[in-house]
Amino acid sequence: MLFSKMLIPTLREAPQDADIISAKLMIRAGMIRKVASGLYEFLPLGLKVLKKVENIIREEMNNAGGQEIILPLLFPKDLWLQTGRWNVYGKELFRLKDRKESEFCLAPTAEEAVTDLISKEIKSYKQLPLMVYQFGTKFRDEIRPRFGVMRSREFLMKDAYSFHTDEADLDGYYKKMYDAYFNICNRCGFKFRSVEAASGAIGGDFSCEFMVLAESGEEEITWCNCGYGANSEKAESIIANCIQEKLADMQEILTPNVSSVNDVSKFLGLSCEKFIKTMIYLADNIPIAVLIRGDYDVNEIKLQSLLGLNEIVLADEETIISVTKSPKGFAGPVGLKNIKIVADLSVPEISNAVTGANKKDSHLKNVNYKRDYNVDLVADIRKVKKGDICPKCQKEELQFSRGIEIGHIFKLGTKYSKSLNAKYLDADGKENSIIMGCYGIGVTRILAATIEQSHDDNGIIWPDNVAPFEVVIVPINYAHQQTKEVTDKIYEALSSKGLDILIDDRDERAGLKFKDADLIGIPYRIVVGEKGLLNNTVEFKHRSYDKNAVKFLSPQEAVKEVLKIYKR
Ligand code: ATP
Ligand code: MG
Repeated sequence: MLFSKMLIPTLREAPQDADIISAKLMIRAGMIRKVASGLYEFLPLGLKVLKKVENIIREEMNNAGGQEIILPLLFPKDLWLQTGRWNVYGKELFRLKDRKESEFCLAPTAEEAVTDLISKEIKSYKQLPLMVYQFGTKFRDEIRPRFGVMRSREFLMKDAYSFHTDEADLDGYYKKMYDAYFNICNRCGFKFRSVEAASGAIGGDFSCEFMVLAESGEEEITWCNCGYGANSEKAESIIANCIQEKLADMQEILTPNVSSVNDVSKFLGLSCEKFIKTMIYLADNIPIAVLIRGDYDVNEIKLQSLLGLNEIVLADEETIISVTKSPKGFAGPVGLKNIKIVADLSVPEISNAVTGANKKDSHLKNVNYKRDYNVDLVADIRKVKKGDICPKCQKEELQFSRGIEIGHIFKLGTKYSKSLNAKYLDADGKENSIIMGCYGIGVTRILAATIEQSHDDNGIIWPDNVAPFEVVIVPINYAHQQTKEVTDKIYEALSSKGLDILIDDRDERAGLKFKDADLIGIPYRIVVGEKGLLNNTVEFKHRSYDKNAVKFLSPQEAVKEVLKIYKR
């Protein structure tokens, strides 16, 4: 491929609104262009990488026994009403009407469509298990589209759906897909972790996310060397610093104008671990009291799923006053009536705790579980924090990293098959709901995540497997006959082995061509120049952090080197 014939509009500067390094570099390298907020065009170079990633994923899906299909992008409202997601999905769902005023949505995922298909086509246990997948555009009206194609409103996803007769079969298949995702991440060259996750709007009982490690990642993940991993919504821990003491008598103490845990702890000279924070929440509009140890924070997602709520928000001052009979900052569980009290596991463990007295400017000291207060429910509802111990090995301290979620796999159970009536007849002729799994991976997001992990000041550094071209040949002067001959020979030798090679044939300064080659990030560069050819050498360099890793090879050796690297 000749650079001069390709649409690769590189830019020296990134546009002002490009807000993350991968977005800046994708635009500067001429891979994508922005049309509007969260909407991008893929140019030839961007599409080439997208196709490489797509092929890696396709191979892994086929290895896992998947069959590729295409589902529509436009879905009728009816199906979505049947699963309840028409209402649950909220504003993220793009909705529209046709000329007959019938309502539709644009696919944010495709569980409804695929389950409907399967309900019509699968009748017997003999047709199961089955996995189908597609590469399809997804539409989500994100609150804050940002970070280029990382969080866009229209993006390419590979979504796969598996169908089983029983849970055990799903469990086995889920493991297989987990391995396939593991392979995809490795083949794309990622440093990553797989973590347990909450299932969100897609639903189901169990899910796992694949997180690419990057400082710019929107997610916080928790992991341990023993193999434990979870995202911040789901992470668990063994509570740190639990000190048991002999129970003392409860005492009221005056704390004038001092209400936050930090301030009261300073005021009393007691550590935050001694405090019970009492937060009043509105749980689907009903006030509840939530207790948590002073040094922890409430994990609202855990709380929401524990109580099966649609919405959980902190209560307004008026509600707090009506529930606790005191202003904000003095709530406590002792004597709190007519309200459900949920405590984190860290709370009953505190002996001689300090807590609000449900009275302005007052706290209680030496408060003890069961003796002085009771609760309706004790469960893990806290966010893990530095210093906590891993729940799996129960030895090491948990580690924290930032990550980009690129894939999410779910055990769905019968959530969709029940509502859409997808059943099969078992060997005894009995009807059962089909058990499902679903498996998503963001193809466009993978590109951005790769660049976040692999770039330097000069541009992108593509891992070998996903690079748009395997080699760029830079003739210093393509009009020079011998330079052209050698360039074309190398090109032929490599192309004939199925490698994708770019020749920068442009009539430009060598410096500019090198700059563009670095920006675009093609892993290997061969420079052909008149001077070198006098000694029958070309320059061979990996697009790596190491600026000095240049080798001078004969054209034949350079070809051999590349073929060795790409195992051709
Ligand atoms: P996030 O928490 O980042 O919004 P999600 O949990 O909504 O992601 P899923 O519904 O599990 O994502 O979708 C599967 C995959 O699709 C994600 O792992 C991600 O790679 C990709 N994806 C999701 N939303 C977007 C988006 N707005 N832009 C680009 N890719 C996305
Ligand atoms: Mg989302």
